[in-house]
Amino acid sequence: MKFIDEFRNKDLVYSLVKQIRRNARQPLRLMEFCGGHTHAIMRFGIRKLLPPEIEMLSGPGCPVCVTSSIDLDRAIALAQIPGVILATFGDMVRVPGTNGSLQSERARGADVRIVYSPLDALKLAERHPNRSVIFLGVGFETTAPGIAASVLEAEAKGLKNYFVFSLHKLTPPATRAILDAGEIRLSGILGPGHVTTVIGTDAWEFLPAHYGVPIAVAGFEPLDILRAIGMLADQVRNGRTRVDNAYSRGVLPQGNRTALAVMNRVFEACDAAWRGIGPLPQSGLRIRKEYAAFDASKAFPIPVQFSEEPSGCRCGEVLRGLLNPLKCPLFRRVCNPQNPIGPCMVSAEGACSAYLQYGEDGLED
Ligand code: SF4
Repeated sequence: MKFIDEFRNKDLVYSLVKQIRRNARQPLRLMEFCGGHTHAIMRFGIRKLLPPEIEMLSGPGCPVCVTSSIDLDRAIALAQIPGVILATFGDMVRVPGTNGSLQSERARGADVRIVYSPLDALKLAERHPNRSVIFLGVGFETTAPGIAASVLEAEAKGLKNYFVFSLHKLTPPATRAILDAGEIRLSGILGPGHVTTVIGTDAWEFLPAHYGVPIAVAGFEPLDILRAIGMLADQVRNGRTRVDNAYSRGVLPQGNRTALAVMNRVFEACDAAWRGIGPLPQSGLRIRKEYAAFDASKAFPIPVQFSEEPSGCRCGEVLRGLLNPLKCPLFRRVCNPQNPIGPCMVSAEGACSAYLQYGEDGLED
């Protein structure tokens, strides 16, 4: 398939691997921020191609996984309000909250619908003028512009029954928090490709400037990922720290200005709670007061004040790169896709789900 096969070319893969093996002369601990990278690395068996000097750790880049228990419980409380249709991306419905999930609420009669885009939620609001449609806004900078656009469209159409419950998170503050915590020392970071398409490589300049940590932004095909790993190995070998871009077909230094403008028109930065990391200042997005009429947190009372993490689940450590999912005592035996205990087993970008699906060796040649 055009634009896919070229980035899976075996000869090029092996030539990049050779180059990485030549350059990796000291132990390198690299974190892939993005859960999409974790899945691609596992799926294509990239770990087993790398020399033993290179260790790859999963990071916090799964928006469903980092949604805190209390925010999830608030979303469940919104779904329980009579007359509400709660629209969400599919991953969220099976994540266990303190007393159940959106899926179990649906079984109890709540109107929870899975949509593929916020515009589908907008259509629901048009089709059901006497119901309140709340879209659950979970995602990073990648999804926020599309959800902001849905708010602008709702305003243009004069819709009074469309709301967004914004649980969006910003990726640079979480990266800072992981480095500030000092729990792990990283030689480099594999930068999130889709997020950086929106925010631009310039947004990562603080990593080399303030932390002395190199970053290489990567796409999601094997050659994209290996090229970025090669760039990081090359930086370390040559004593350089900078922002490299191994995804130049999609990522510009300044990002996508149109998407950023739409996002910043509707949303503003706010403090947010991250599962596994805790509260982080200015790390989330809330709806600006100019668009308060579309803000579910203003329009509906959400009484939840207390939540509990799933007992025994170690997603927090997995999200901070401290624990390999295989080391979680609940992995597979107790926690699996049929009976997920934590979000990292449910989400399509969750590290535990990647390890369970692909194992250490990956599936594709
Ligand atoms: Fe949580 Fe399950 Fe992952 Fe363990 S295996 S960290 S219980 S999601």
